[in-house]
Formats: sequence, C-alpha cells, structure tokens
Amino acid sequence: MPIRILPSHLVDQIAAGEVIERPASVVKELIENALDADARHIRIDIEHGGLGLIRVRDDGGGIPAAELSLAVQPHATSKIATVEDLEGIASLGFRGEALASIGSVARLRLVSRRAGSAEGAELTVEAGERSGPRPAAHPPGTSIEVRDLFYSVPARRRFMRSESTEFGHILRQVERLALGAPAVGFELHHNGRPALDLPGASPDGASHGDPQAARDALAARIDRILGPEFRRQALLLPAGAGPVRLWGWLALPTAARGQPDQQYWFVNGRAVRDRLLAGAVRLGYRDVLYHGRHPGFVLYLSLDARAVDVNAHPSKLELRFRDS
Ligand code: ADP
Ligand code: MG
Repeated sequence: MPIRILPSHLVDQIAAGEVIERPASVVKELIENALDADARHIRIDIEHGGLGLIRVRDDGGGIPAAELSLAVQPHATSKIATVEDLEGIASLGFRGEALASIGSVARLRLVSRRAGSAEGAELTVEAGERSGPRPAAHPPGTSIEVRDLFYSVPARRRFMRSESTEFGHILRQVERLALGAPAVGFELHHNGRPALDLPGASPDGASHGDPQAARDALAARIDRILGPEFRRQALLLPAGAGPVRLWGWLALPTAARGQPDQQYWFVNGRAVRDRLLAGAVRLGYRDVLYHGRHPGFVLYLSLDARAVDVNAHPSKLELRFRDS
C-alpha cells in the first residue's frame, strides 16, 4: 500500500481508541467537562449499560451557540491557549479531544445555554457529520447525549461486556469522580431507576468556605460510597499547611482488604492512579501490613499545578511530579 494521509474521520476514530475504551470512559470525559464548567449538580442517565444512551446534564457555565460546532472538533479547547498554560493546568480537561472522539464513535447531541442568554442551541454529530447549531430549549447549563456507542466501530463494540458489567464500571467511575468533587451533587440513573444520589454542598455551608461543614459533607459522601465501616476503622489525617497539602482518611492496618478496591488518590482534585503515590502509601504501612493485604484510603494532595505534569497519559490517570 502506498503511504497516504488518513481521512480526518478515521484519525478521530483512532484517537478515540486511546481515551474511549468503554462506556465508563465516556461518562468520565463528560463529567470532567461538567466539573470544568463549574457545575453544582450533575445528573447522569444511562440506558443499557451505557451502550444505548449516556446523558450528562449539568448546570454549569454552558457553551455559547457560536462555539458549539468548535466544541466537537479535534484539538479545540477553551481551557488552554499557550505552552505556559500547559505547564500549570488547573482544569481536568485540556486536550480538546473528548467530544471529537466521542462524535466519531457514537451519535452525539449537545444542547447548551449560557447563563445570560435568552435561549439555548443544539448540535448533533453522526458518523463525523455535524448538523446545527439550531435553537433549542435548555435551562442554563449543558446536556450531552451519546447514543449507540461504537456503532461505527463494530470491532470495539464486540469487546463490550454485559450491560450490568458496563454499568458497574460506570457506577465506580461516578463514585470516584464524586469523591474528588465533594461539593457537587451527583445523581445517577440506570434504565430509569435511581442508582446513586449524592447531594451537593448546601449554598450556606461547605461551598462558602466553612472547612468543618465541607469535611462533614465529604465524610457523609465517603460513608455512602465506601460504607460506614471504612471511616470507623480509619484515621483522619489532618490537612497540613504549606505549599504541599495532604489530608484524608487511611484505614487501620487491621481493616486492610484482600483487594485494592478502596484506594483513592486525588491530586489537585483529579482522580489518579499513580505508581509513585501508591508506592508511598505502601511504604507508610510497610511494617504493619500482612502480605497481600491492601489498606483502604481516600487521600487528597494539593500542590502548585506547575509542580505536576498531567500531560503524561491520554486519559490523564498518571502524573509526573517535578520533584517526586
Ligand atoms: P477539553 O475538555 O479537553 O477542552 P472536550 O472535547 O472535552 O475538550 O471539550 C471541548 C470544549 O467544549 C471544552 O474546552 C469546553 O469549552 C466545551 N465544553 C464541553 N463540555 C462542556 C460542558 N459540559 N459545559 C461547558 N462547556 C463544555
Ligand atoms: Mg473534556
């Protein structure tokens, strides 16, 4: 075969292969976008394990009608503009690839309205073809609908598990993101039935800078997600001061589990699975943990965004620290 330049739709499908592995990956990208838009409440509706429908509705800042068709194009983002921005990323997204990738492997519909504008607008993408924007009713905020995931890439579709397995991945993804954004309300429904309801911070409490109220709200959320036994058998690590702050809950060694299923690291609000951080926890328990046991923890690290490189992995799960 001669060398050729691939058509852009195929390029997008290849890019989608990196970040859109299964329905839960779509849910992650859409929730991250809602969080970046400062949503206070996020509602997620799933049908058929996410292979039928994924809809994420938020009450965040919205997308201007004139920018809707840019939002679904590859390498189009409102989050960074220069290499300096890339070195100190404060948002969850920055690659400008998620919506373009999703639009190349599913039927995509965006409806959005900016807070100040009189009406909303919608745009659809199917097989890489955009249609719109056209006027549409929507409260301030954004809804993104993804139908028939992987209909255009049958090979990927065949890798999907049962509806209930795929929904299990989605549920765990939502729980993880909800632990990283404790002030935001999350509501998850599967086939019309409620699966998770996590209230957000009350406007007069946690979100107005009362640290105790914020901690209590997070503690309640942790009890819902990890079960109340976790905190009963865990130590609260108080937040330190200074440029690097670490706090959270660490299970007592006697409460360690057979599986590493209750381990949550958040770095500047981003859920990560980082070898260095995982190793640091293991080192902390080194003399008090039986072989093959895994302590549960929910740990929050915050530091100068310029001291971490989040551009090390397409799905941004791994990090690089400037001074590990
Ligand atoms: P990225 O998040 O990396 O910028 P995406 O493809 O996920 O790339 O989104 C492209 C752009 O669309 C974002 O930069 C943002 O401006 C806009 N956008 C996407 N989802 C939302 C949302 N829920 N609310 C407001 N803006 C959004
Ligand atoms: Mg994004």
